[in-house]
Amino acid sequence: MKPITIAHLFPELLNLYGDGGNVIALRRRCEWRGIPVQVSEVGMDDDIDFAHADIVFVGGGADREQLIAKDAIARRKSELSAYVSDGGVLLAVCGGYQFLGHHYTMGDTVVEGLGIVDMETVRGQGRLIGNAAIQTDIAETPVIGFENHGGRTTLGAGVKPFGRVLGATHGNNGEDGLEGVHQGNLIGTYLHGPLLPKNPAIADHLIAAALVRRGESGELAPLDDAVEAAANRVMAKRMGVA
Ligand code: GLN
Repeated sequence: MKPITIAHLFPELLNLYGDGGNVIALRRRCEWRGIPVQVSEVGMDDDIDFAHADIVFVGGGADREQLIAKDAIARRKSELSAYVSDGGVLLAVCGGYQFLGHHYTMGDTVVEGLGIVDMETVRGQGRLIGNAAIQTDIAETPVIGFENHGGRTTLGAGVKPFGRVLGATHGNNGEDGLEGVHQGNLIGTYLHGPLLPKNPAIADHLIAAALVRRGESGELAPLDDAVEAAANRVMAKRMGVA
């Protein structure tokens, strides 16, 4: 079997609160099942052909890092849009998530986004910080993580969120009860954690989607997730959403 190729965009720059752990979780969960997998770290000046990627991951970054990364992201606009339109699997967290929309407006500075998702992000007053839990239609249990963002994201009409906030979670903007975006095989979210080690159902959803896109079976052998489930439950209980 051709290896599942995970393209990790700008790991040297966009990697907050252990976001790189998402790539480790994806790789390990493939390896544990005997699914061949390779990770390709894509630097800002590297050329990568997204036609060979099965899963693309973009992590979070502070506003400063986003300003450094914005041109390199913009250069790949048409390629990334084509990849997503073709059903390519993409996970983007926080700063990486904000890049998927039309713009990220920070005061007088307007950062042009990829326009892959109909959404706008505007930096608000104060930051939305804390442990987070959301209900998705992918995982039976709450998806848990940690959020810390100044940007407030508003999805366009009819755009499907990743989930609905639980407990004291702020979500996209602290107002509409929505968190992230889920559009085809693309998931964007504010949840760090890292997300996938704490929520293995989401990791498996992405791996299965990548396999199905290649015409293979998305049926994944079960893994022993007792430790992951226990960690998830502790946080869900602490947040009063278990
Ligand atoms: N810089 C962005 C914000 O503050 C994203 C932060 C992040 O990736 N945690 O909204």
